[in-house]
Amino acid sequence: MKVLDTFRFAGSVEPKAIDSFYQHLENPKNVMRLKTLSPGEKIIVITQNLKESILRWGRDLGFDLKNRMLPITRIHFVKSRSLSQKYSKSKGVFTKTNKPFRGATDLDTFITYICIDLYNGRLRPYPSLAHTICHELVHSIAFKKVDISKIDEKNYYFTTVRSGFKDFNTNAFLLLDECITELTNHYLIAYYWKISPSFRNFIKSHKLSCRLIHPL
Ligand SMILES: [Zn+2]
Repeated sequence: MKVLDTFRFAGSVEPKAIDSFYQHLENPKNVMRLKTLSPGEKIIVITQNLKESILRWGRDLGFDLKNRMLPITRIHFVKSRSLSQKYSKSKGVFTKTNKPFRGATDLDTFITYICIDLYNGRLRPYPSLAHTICHELVHSIAFKKVDISKIDEKNYYFTTVRSGFKDFNTNAFLLLDECITELTNHYLIAYYWKISPSFRNFIKSHKLSCRLIHPL
């Protein structure tokens, strides 16, 4: 059960739930639900460099984030259309919009999906792909939404619950988790991509890079 050492469970998690979580991580039959595309050398290198910059940011803050970082085997590259279809079947909210999916972390399988193309089939430019991969990696090192309740003066009870999503019709983040994740992503793009030789060029060509970030 070595893999479980990197996860912390809180609240009333039954042994059965932990078992099925473990099964999801270990058994490829359970997790290969979408047609996965081979990412190619360049995307693998980009992902690796993104991980390095997040680890560096963690070190600057005094945290070692290595054990939380999503392994490449759990990042699946897929077509936007297949991801949209998957979610349109299970979650009504996504059927209201024609906006394409760019990435998502599936909480049923603990797989992170990254779309390699736009809904019209055109391949996404590398800076845009890197933006999404970085966002999902930030999810992976963070707790999702945390409920806190007070037991007494000294003890607080923490439990993690589901992640959030964005409403594309209003552009609003429906849960705080999404908002903080994307703000953190922009912070990384603005400050950590700048110091990474592999991403400096991406910043120039990526419109979203620094516009939303104001130095503190
Ligand atoms: Zn997200």
